[in-house]
Amino acid sequence: VNKYKFSERHTCRMCGEEFTQTAFKLSDSPIADSYHDEANHEPKFPLEVFVCSSCGQVQLKHVVWPDEIYKEYIYWTKTSPDLQAHFKQYSNDALVKINKNNGLMVDVGCNDGTLLKNFAKRGWKVCGVEPAENISAYLTKENINHINGYMDIDVALQIVHEHGQADLITCNNVFANVNDTDAFMAAINELLKKDGTFIIEANYLLDMLKNQVFDYIYHEHLSYFSLSSVNALCQRHGMEIYDLQLVNTKGGSFRSYIGFQSKHVIQPIVMQQLAKEVEIGIHSANMFKMWMEDIDTKGRQIKSTLTQLKSDGKTIVGYGASATVTTLIHHFKLTELFDYLVDDNPIKQNTFCPGTHIPVKSSSELAKERNCIIAVTSWRFTDLIHKNNPQLNSPSHIFLRIFPNLEELGDVN
Ligand SMILES: [Zn+2]
Repeated sequence: VNKYKFSERHTCRMCGEEFTQTAFKLSDSPIADSYHDEANHEPKFPLEVFVCSSCGQVQLKHVVWPDEIYKEYIYWTKTSPDLQAHFKQYSNDALVKINKNNGLMVDVGCNDGTLLKNFAKRGWKVCGVEPAENISAYLTKENINHINGYMDIDVALQIVHEHGQADLITCNNVFANVNDTDAFMAAINELLKKDGTFIIEANYLLDMLKNQVFDYIYHEHLSYFSLSSVNALCQRHGMEIYDLQLVNTKGGSFRSYIGFQSKHVIQPIVMQQLAKEVEIGIHSANMFKMWMEDIDTKGRQIKSTLTQLKSDGKTIVGYGASATVTTLIHHFKLTELFDYLVDDNPIKQNTFCPGTHIPVKSSSELAKERNCIIAVTSWRFTDLIHKNNPQLNSPSHIFLRIFPNLEELGDVN
């Protein structure tokens, strides 16, 4: 049974340059979010990272993903209050930048239509594109105009046929998962009006570097974008980035405003940020190698600390069972050290961390423990998790920040 799609790239998906050298490798890892109810069940795949010497695109060499991943999607925008407010602000900002008050707006990967509704409220004609069948059924019920599928040339032509070309196309937190970015851009080319704007919002490589979010690297994320790589892709398709916002969603993202060449005034912030990327050295595989070496040093410290605690007879529980945790546990080789993980999301409870025998339980399980070490595996949320769990104070438990710095946390007052 071929459960996974698998291919290997030899050229940059953004500019076509040939790969010359691997920047770094993470340990082989299973598909990061495949938390299932069987231990040691998921196959592992290489996580090899290339940096394009021409455009600075960071990307995985091996393209692997479950065939069915987007058919039944469990993430709903409307359940996140943060994202509700975010997309309201997004539509305000975009309307100022694009200098249009109405027209056709298309949201690619529209999820439950949160952003579409914001534009519809302002009198725009809207159309979503959404691959997940369960979410599409919801959109139909809510009477939100959409197409159930992936953005490609056929879908683009169908929209043009039914509604005409788009004044605005948006693509938020979706582009990193697109394998054939050239085909995607060709579809955008057909769909967008000559004076229209295409917005890509995605995680920003510079923030990933700065915050050492190496565990965001897993197979679902094929690309880690710099602006220079996005601009290189645009230029291949007669387009360019003309404006830019840096936003703090998902640990640091960019929102790039893209148009056909010479149709918009390029704002100074675009040139400034492109120059900054060169300065930081995003075209240099060596810079990434050093970045990863620093992270690996920290990983060895975490492993030796947890190994010591384990040999002292402590129970070690990881707090957080997400896709990033799969990367963290496999890359730092911590599988043997955790007795179990806990997660507050019921979907994760009573599963196993992919590719391991580590069970995932409810955090209520911790009340039964004495003298246990709580190592926060969802490390970006360490302070929040610590603050939300005053009942787990010492002496019964010890909270441990594991990354980016090892630190025992005091009691919550
Ligand atoms: Zn490239």
